[in-house]
Amino acid sequence: MSLPMNEERVKAAVETLLAEVGEDPTREGLVRTPARVAEALKFLTSGYGQDVDAVLNNALFTVECSEMVIVRDIDFYSLCEHHLLPFFGKCHIAYLPRDRVVGLSKLPRLLDVFSRRLQIQERLTNQIAEVISEALDPLGVGVVIEATHLCVLMRGVEKQNAFALTSAMRGAFRSDARTRMEFLELLKLRGDMRAAFDPARLVAGAGEVAPT
Ligand SMILES: [Zn+2]
Repeated sequence: MSLPMNEERVKAAVETLLAEVGEDPTREGLVRTPARVAEALKFLTSGYGQDVDAVLNNALFTVECSEMVIVRDIDFYSLCEHHLLPFFGKCHIAYLPRDRVVGLSKLPRLLDVFSRRLQIQERLTNQIAEVISEALDPLGVGVVIEATHLCVLMRGVEKQNAFALTSAMRGAFRSDARTRMEFLELLKLRGDMRAAFDPARLVAGAGEVAPT
């Protein structure tokens, strides 16, 4: 848990920013901007104040089956910690239960806890895999995130792809090629993305490196 944001200080900082980029913070369109930015930031970084245990509470169930559970195409929005600009896309989560499953609706909420912070895509991917490993002690977990980075698109960074694919594979998803392929097969990623999934690289950890 982090300290709650001091809105007055944030507003003052935004006002300074406005003046520094050559704007007049007192003109009509900008008068309430510092307050709006503070409000938006509070939401966009609300993950810092959320507790994973509270999210998962009462949503863990004992099961006997050990079929792969997969939730794909979970939308997320995050802020890159290098430029404070958005990166956003889809997250796909799968795990092989040992004896516990989590309510399916909890996975998107778990993603929100970590995406509503200043992030890099690789860390976000790993944190989701980590928290599922810890909470469920599954036989394996796989997380794939595909995202577009506005800091690359908007800044016109040459020869850099604004699209990045990252993965975190644990347990059976790391050690067993068939489990991993079953997961990737279920994702039915677009053709051009499949090429990024060189199994050797997946075993090593994250897939593509996110732009910075
Ligand atoms: Zn960035």
